Amino acid sequence: HNPNPANFIRNIVIDDLNTGKRDKVITRFPPEPNGYLHIGHAKSIVINFDLADEFKGTTNLRFDDTNPLKEDTEFVEAIKEDVKWLGYDWDGLFFASDYFEEMYSRAVLLINKGLAYVDDLSADEIREYRGTLTEPGKESPYRNRSIEENLELFEKMRNGDYENGEKVLRAKIDMSSPNINLRDPVIYRISHTTHHNTGDKWCIYPMYAFAHPLEDAMEDVTHSICTIEFEDQRPFYNWVVEHCEMKSQPQQIEFGRLALTNTVTSKRKLKQLVEEGFVDGWDDPRMPTISGLRRKGYTADAIKSFVRELGVSKTAGTVDTQMLEHFMREDLKLKAPRTMGVIDPLKVVITNYPEGQVEMLDAEINPEVPEMGIRQIAFSREIYIERDDFMENPPAKYHRLFPGNEVRLKHAYFIKCEEVIKDADGKVIEIHCTYDPETKSGTGFTGRKVKGTIHWVEATQAVPAEFRLFEPLILDETNEDEEDKSFLEKVNPHSLEVLNGFVETNMKEVQPQDKFQFFRHGYFNVDPKLTSAEKIVFNRIVSLKSSFKL
Ligand code: ATP
Ligand code: MG
Ligand code: MG
Repeated sequence: HNPNPANFIRNIVIDDLNTGKRDKVITRFPPEPNGYLHIGHAKSIVINFDLADEFKGTTNLRFDDTNPLKEDTEFVEAIKEDVKWLGYDWDGLFFASDYFEEMYSRAVLLINKGLAYVDDLSADEIREYRGTLTEPGKESPYRNRSIEENLELFEKMRNGDYENGEKVLRAKIDMSSPNINLRDPVIYRISHTTHHNTGDKWCIYPMYAFAHPLEDAMEDVTHSICTIEFEDQRPFYNWVVEHCEMKSQPQQIEFGRLALTNTVTSKRKLKQLVEEGFVDGWDDPRMPTISGLRRKGYTADAIKSFVRELGVSKTAGTVDTQMLEHFMREDLKLKAPRTMGVIDPLKVVITNYPEGQVEMLDAEINPEVPEMGIRQIAFSREIYIERDDFMENPPAKYHRLFPGNEVRLKHAYFIKCEEVIKDADGKVIEIHCTYDPETKSGTGFTGRKVKGTIHWVEATQAVPAEFRLFEPLILDETNEDEEDKSFLEKVNPHSLEVLNGFVETNMKEVQPQDKFQFFRHGYFNVDPKLTSAEKIVFNRIVSLKSSFKL
């Protein structure tokens, strides 16, 4: 597996280094702290950090916090934690808001060069004047204010002399440009809002499209990698770098966004799921957030392998979530201890096993990795099996337990179903079986064969556990249309199933985030939030089987 597969961005970097256009590589990951990071951000993180790592460059973590209304320090802290957890160390840690003074003076520079003006049109009027793809825009009546007047008005904007929306500062470019982004874009707006970092120091804030190129240039970023929807912004990005007379000249390069089937990768939508109570917080295990995936049990290695395998291209497609699951299984296959857990228990009494006796059986911790050793599991007269491993009137080809049938208990003995005990309503509450001591696992018994092997947990020492099983959060394969407002109607009402069962007695000491492969059920993670002294809570990460082929 090539750790640095060829891709068009890497090729640009290699060319730049070879031709001497650049003598170093500086990238940045620039999240806006208005929500938690999701799997799409992981792609951007991996691209930026891997690229700098490969060419001995550096990567900054920069919070793009130019919109005080939506941003919060809670998000700043969560983002830092997620980037670290993915295994990356940033070189510089910056906030766009730390550059506000510098940005302000660059805007003043534009005014002085006759390249920016204060406009009194309302937001609606500005939109109306902007024109369309087929129609040129109209110039604002305030467009030709003198430099002196603009300087004075802009300073008054900063001093708080105007209400929100009363005035804006616009770049003076070309109202008939075929690129609508160049039709005098707004570069400063008034917002009397407390900022998470600068408090009440500012009541004017730079627009993202103006701020971003300045941030990149101030940090000497060489390759400013962003998603494809910013392609039309590139001419303005270059305009800002040039006319603001920035020493450094970063290059913007766009790639296709990552979207996954059966989920959403947009902070705005994820926020809605959180705020409207569809999920239990940003780190709900059903969420495609980094923190949700981590809590579900995903490893940073699995996420990075997945993202690297996807590669980098200009076009985005929706990727099958099963591919992410595939990488999770691959990562845990040799790492996770195997164990048994019964998630929907049915009591079995082994009537010919001595009462009061408990024996300890040896079981491999991971048969694919013998060095992991063996664990001890209890066996006695009473055990639990899975309710659906028994059927009173089974269909043909049902090889598990039914009256008169014999099955193998994994790591233990053959048992044969002799009697079915029901309650007054006819519900099966207990099965009576006999066991055959000759058939003990590991003794090499070949006397006869059985077709079914089932798992079980000894009843007197069993540790109670809660199992959380997940189905897709969004009932939509295709995904994801940014404007799709109906996605809330596609939220799966059955995305979470909670069951109470038992696990092996040796599981008493498990720690949050420990991961196991439960025989026949799949990979599970010990939930770090819900697990308590009274109860272990397991989240299913993935089931064992998949039809997915890479
Ligand atoms: P969202 O719409 O989810 O808020 P965003 O692009 O506004 O996404 P930012 O916080 O600005 O979120 O993102 C930081 C970086 O991560 C940006 O460079 C952005 O392009 C990148 N990014 C965000 N979403 C994806 C995605 N789905 N796939 C790849 N990169 C992404
Ligand atoms: Mg953004
Ligand atoms: Mg956004």
